[in-house]
Amino acid sequence: MAWLGRDTDRWSANGDSRARQASRAEGAETADLLAFDRDHVWHPYRPMPDVNDLLLVTGAEGVRLSLADGREPIDGMSSFWAAVHGYRNPVLDKALADQAVRFAHVMFGGLTHEPAVRLAKTLVELTPGGLEHVFFCDSGTVSVEVALKMCLQYWSAVGRGEKRRILTWRGGYHGATLHSMSVCDPDGGVPALWRGLLPEQVFVPAPPASSYTSLRNSGGPAHAGDEQLDPDYVATLARTVAEHAGELAAIIVEPVVQSAGGMRFHHPGYLRVLRELADAHDILLIFDEMATGFGHTGALFAADHAGVTPDVMCLGKALTGGYMSGAATLCTPRVADGIGRGRPPVLVHGQTFMGNPLVAAVSNASLSLLAGGGWRGEVFRIEKALREGLREAVHLDGVVDVRVLGAIGVIELDRPADPRMAAAALDKGVWLRPFRNLVYCLPPYVCTDDEIAQICSAMVAAAGA
Ligand SMILES: *Cc1c(COP(=O)(O)O)cnc(C)c1O
Repeated sequence: MAWLGRDTDRWSANGDSRARQASRAEGAETADLLAFDRDHVWHPYRPMPDVNDLLLVTGAEGVRLSLADGREPIDGMSSFWAAVHGYRNPVLDKALADQAVRFAHVMFGGLTHEPAVRLAKTLVELTPGGLEHVFFCDSGTVSVEVALKMCLQYWSAVGRGEKRRILTWRGGYHGATLHSMSVCDPDGGVPALWRGLLPEQVFVPAPPASSYTSLRNSGGPAHAGDEQLDPDYVATLARTVAEHAGELAAIIVEPVVQSAGGMRFHHPGYLRVLRELADAHDILLIFDEMATGFGHTGALFAADHAGVTPDVMCLGKALTGGYMSGAATLCTPRVADGIGRGRPPVLVHGQTFMGNPLVAAVSNASLSLLAGGGWRGEVFRIEKALREGLREAVHLDGVVDVRVLGAIGVIELDRPADPRMAAAALDKGVWLRPFRNLVYCLPPYVCTDDEIAQICSAMVAAAGA
C-alpha cells in the first residue's frame, strides 16, 4: 500500500519467506485500510470517526461479494436496489469497456452523443405513455430536485406562481439534499433536525398497508384487485388536497412501495385516486420510482400496477444495473411546454457530468437485458421462493409482519435492528443490512432458487438474533 508508505519491506522480502510475508502484508493492508477509513472516510449516516465494523470488499461477481477475510456472501441487497443483473455481468462489463475506449465523458452543454440519445429513446418507450422528455441527472436525489424544480417552474411559467408547496404522504423517502428532504417523512428523525430551514410541505397520513402482500394472511393472498381501498383514507386525501389546492404545485409519492421510510407496501389503487385528485384540482403528480423502477415490484414500473401516468417520473438505482450513479427525470409535453412559456423559457438546471456516456452506455446495456423480458419470470420466481422461504418467520417471536412483493422480502420486528442481526445473516453466508425495525432483502434477479432459500434462512436467523 504505497500510498500510505508503510509496507516498503513487502517489496524487499526474498526467498520462501516472500509468500508468508505477502499474506501477512495483505492482512496488515486490510487493517491499515480499515483504520484509515474509520478515521477519515464518511459512510452514509455514520459518525466521524466511525466504529470498527466495516467489511472490506475485494471483489464481486455474480450474486456474491468477496471480502478481504476470504468470505463470499450472497449480496441480498443488490447494492441497495441497484445491481439487479449481478456483478461482473458480461453484457454490462462489455458495454462499459467499449464506451471507455471511445470516450469516457464530454460536456452535455452544446454537445450530445449516441449513448445518451439511445438511453432517452428507450426510457420514453419503456415508461408509461405520455412521458416524453428526459433530463439526465447524476444521482437519485438530484432527479427529485429536478422533478420539484420542473413543477415549481411550470406553475411560475403559466402565471400561477402561488402554487409552490408540495403534498406527500408520510413514511416517504425522496433523497438527501435540503429540498428533497422537505418531502421525506418529517418524523424520520433526520429531517426534524432541519425544521424551520426546509420548505414546509403538506403531509397526509401514510397510505394504509396492503394486506395482500402480507404472509400473515393464512387464507392465502387475495389478488391485489380484490383488496378494497380504505374509504376514510381516500376521504382524508381528497379533503387535504382540496383544502390546499390553490397553493399546491405537485403531489410526490413513492408508488406501491415506500422504501427507506419503512418498506411499506400499499394498494396501487391509491395512485389512481391521486391521479384523479391531481387532475380535478390542477396539481402535477410526481412518481419517485428510484427504488420501484425496473421490475422490483413485479411490474416494470410501479405505475404500471395502477395504469397511471404521472406528470413527472424519477428513475435511478437499477437504471445503470448498479454499476455507477445515474438517474433521470422524465416529464410530459404539458410540463415541458409550460416551462417553455416562462422567463427564462428553459429548465433552470444543469450539471457538469449530466448525460455521462459511460453511465448512458451501461444503462443501455442494463435496459437491453430488461427489454428481453426475462426479468418478469425471474422476479415472479423470486417472489414465489421468498413467500416459501419466509413463511416460517411469521411465527417467530417479535415478528410483527412478513411481506413479499416481487423481488422484495421484508420481516418487520417489534424492536430496532441491531448489529448482531447482520452478523447472524453473514454467518449464514448472506450480506443484509437491517435498518429501523426491518430485516429485508432485495436479491439480484439472477439469484437461483437455492440462493433465495439461503437468503431467507439468513433473514430468519437475523430476525431471531
Ligand atoms: C434511493 C432513493 C432516492 C435517492 O437516490 P440517491 O441515488 O441515493 O440520491 C430517492 N428516492 C427514493 C424513493 C429512493 O429509493
